[in-house]
Amino acid sequence: MTTQERLDFSSARGLPEEQAAFFHLGPSKLVAEDTVFFAAMANVSAFVCQGRILLVDTSLERFTPQVLNDLRAHYSQAPIEALVYTHGHVDHVTGAEAIIAHARQRGDARPRIIGHRDVAPRFDRYRLLARQNDHINRIQFNLPPDARPFSEAKLTYPDTTYDGALSTTVGGELFELHHCRGETDDETWVWCPGRRVLCTGDTFVWCSPNAGNPYKVQRYARDWADGLEQMAALKPLHLLPGHGPALSGEERIQEALLTTAHFLRSIHDQVVEKMNEGKWLEDILREIQYPPADKPWLQPIYDHPEFVARNVYRLYGGWYDGDPAHILPAHSADIAAVLVSVAGAANLLARARKLRDDADLQMACHITDFVRKGDPANREAWQLWRDLFTARAAAEPSLMARGAFLAAVREAEERLQEPAT
Ligand SMILES: [Zn+2]
Repeated sequence: MTTQERLDFSSARGLPEEQAAFFHLGPSKLVAEDTVFFAAMANVSAFVCQGRILLVDTSLERFTPQVLNDLRAHYSQAPIEALVYTHGHVDHVTGAEAIIAHARQRGDARPRIIGHRDVAPRFDRYRLLARQNDHINRIQFNLPPDARPFSEAKLTYPDTTYDGALSTTVGGELFELHHCRGETDDETWVWCPGRRVLCTGDTFVWCSPNAGNPYKVQRYARDWADGLEQMAALKPLHLLPGHGPALSGEERIQEALLTTAHFLRSIHDQVVEKMNEGKWLEDILREIQYPPADKPWLQPIYDHPEFVARNVYRLYGGWYDGDPAHILPAHSADIAAVLVSVAGAANLLARARKLRDDADLQMACHITDFVRKGDPANREAWQLWRDLFTARAAAEPSLMARGAFLAAVREAEERLQEPAT
């Protein structure tokens, strides 16, 4: 790529197809005077302020050099004085090293790196659990078996941290940083009052909020809703999200922020109410009325509303599910082996196929699960397991759910390649 080419990842080379479809990759854009938005998978925003630049986020390390090339070729030669992390997820921060190296090559001072005080403990945790995070991300994002997104992540710790809020000035322009627990505990949203530009980080990403990720640590639906309402109260003219295209227009932004807040608050409040009624999680999940996802930014293509409800329960409750057989349980494979010995693998698989033919794939999976666990050499069980999850993956909009379904397909295929015993 030459420096004269505009940043444009429309072809999304190098990304798995389903991620490319989800993450917005497109040309950079001047959204307001001296305010540039780079749609670089995880987005980067640049505020040019009288010969100084404040950057919000770095994108993934592999995209950062192209963001910098584009910035220099088309927008500004000013030094980057400050870099704000909206949160410590690797797709938002791993380009920091490239930005520091770029400053050094130009003879500029090292940019200040500003983040919430909980970014550093997050990075510490990523180092502690790097291989576990590699493993879980391969499932979550359907990555190839050799992908090591955490072991290989370049993590540059912030040098300026804050707790509740921080005001900072770059080239005379005021920026307000606000902490908001939401998708993460270390989330920062940035408000530039002079331009009425809002950088939301991942508190707004053009799909139903990832407030329930089944693979990862706690998320915070109520704080998230509070934060979105605070942002809306500022009446932004431009919203620059963590992923997806920029949004302009006061009314449209109000609608986007407040309907998302309502979505989260509704799920949160229903779970709390039912917990107070003494209900267990599975009964809460069966009773909950999910708010309508009738806006383009509320489509459950990434997380799933049911996962949000689970996460609210997890925040306030323990792991006990209300079934006394589960408080000190046997291993599920041992339970399955007993059930298979009583009911017979053939009978169970026949019932699972009947359920599949009646379009109850969910229950068909549960029944097949007993056989593939209780009789792991049963090839018919693995074939059915593979076929059921292939069908569910094809029909499932949520990337998070699809990741687990596709991992099931891969496991079944591996089992079926083993020589029959
Ligand atoms: Zn993100």
